[in-house]
Amino acid sequence: MKSSNNTTPDALLDEGHGKPIVCGGCELLCEDLTTQSIKSGTGCALSDNWFSHGELQPESMINGKKVPLTEAINTAAQRLLSSRRPLITGLVSTTIDTIQIACTLAEKLHAAVDANAPETAILTAPTAIRIGDVTADFEELRDRADLAIFWDCSPSTNFQPFIKRFIRPTPQNNFRHTISIGSTSLLPPTSHNLHFAVQKDDLVSLARMVQARLEQKASRKLSSDLGNIADKIKESIDNALCIGIISSKTADQTGLVSWSLSHLTRSLAHQKPSFGIRLNAEANVGGGNCAGASTVCTWRLGAPGAIPFASNAGSEFLPAETDAQRLIEREEVDCILIIGRIPSRIEDSMAKFAKQKTVIHVSDTFPLPEHGNSIRLGCASLSHSTEGDMLRSDGRLISLQPFATSQQSSIQKVLNDLLDQVTVETRRRSTP
Ligand code: SF4
Repeated sequence: MKSSNNTTPDALLDEGHGKPIVCGGCELLCEDLTTQSIKSGTGCALSDNWFSHGELQPESMINGKKVPLTEAINTAAQRLLSSRRPLITGLVSTTIDTIQIACTLAEKLHAAVDANAPETAILTAPTAIRIGDVTADFEELRDRADLAIFWDCSPSTNFQPFIKRFIRPTPQNNFRHTISIGSTSLLPPTSHNLHFAVQKDDLVSLARMVQARLEQKASRKLSSDLGNIADKIKESIDNALCIGIISSKTADQTGLVSWSLSHLTRSLAHQKPSFGIRLNAEANVGGGNCAGASTVCTWRLGAPGAIPFASNAGSEFLPAETDAQRLIEREEVDCILIIGRIPSRIEDSMAKFAKQKTVIHVSDTFPLPEHGNSIRLGCASLSHSTEGDMLRSDGRLISLQPFATSQQSSIQKVLNDLLDQVTVETRRRSTP
């Protein structure tokens, strides 16, 4: 197959015809796309966006001028080492291997690291981590749960594709009931799809009341409406064989809803097969490997993100203080290395606050307005031509299935070359 600098992704789509393709557009990492569906529209706006952005042969540039990749890498290494405080962000549109290289680079530079996951931007992020969750993979929910409870989930997020893939199919025991708790019903209300309108302020009390009923303990006397809802939920639970509770990770800023749901799920799991599944409230976070980014950062640096200075001896974890967006907006970093596609929240912050900063972007796209000090390291298309694994948010490892060739180096290779150059330059600077 021939490629040229003008080659568009569409021109190369036929290469992988018929092969199932993985979409890295969000944490669901759907594995059932085809080149045909990518051409004609996948029916998922986020997925169409994931495949339509990105060039197969992106150029490398310094301050808007095309340069060879090696020159861009050399300059990027110099700027990173001269920086007073660099930040490494992005990551969620890239593979596990790439994130590992990014962590090694962060250690060498003592850089701040944050993939801009919504959880690291809220103060109570560690609450659910401390309690621990009983969880299962999405297919377990699809195949086994005859009762799915949506706890304060909003239909405007990636819950609709989730429903299509994991709730609508019939479970093995042949029928599924759903309950939506919150302001809106996730499914059209019927006798099998119940909806209980519950205010946000009452969500914790409701979870505690349901748990008290399950454990046959007395609970605090609250409104009879809430008590009636707790009775109906308990009745549905009694009639079910297997229960999945689906919630969104960041809808709850206090952490108390997560805490009360984790306790409820654990109590339920002592009585019958039950588990919780948490999805991002915000579907478009720049890519589907949020779980991979937080897992690799935890394993390598000791925290999932919001790391002020990376260290393999264990880094501090300062959620809502050193997350990428706040570091940029407080103008505490003078060099921003974005690995992979830019999450929209970071793009907005950079447009307002990062005009004077050095911005180094390793990616197949470059949607930023021109920055005075910008370096682009072009790499092969992340959606079409990248090999490697991503981690789905339920912990399942998903291998990407590249279906178009690129003459550009992969993102792993470009980042590795940058790491090598930083090592060489560090040695040169420390030699008298
Ligand atoms: S739901 Fe997510 S992973 Fe699935 S096709 Fe849409 S963007 Fe891609």
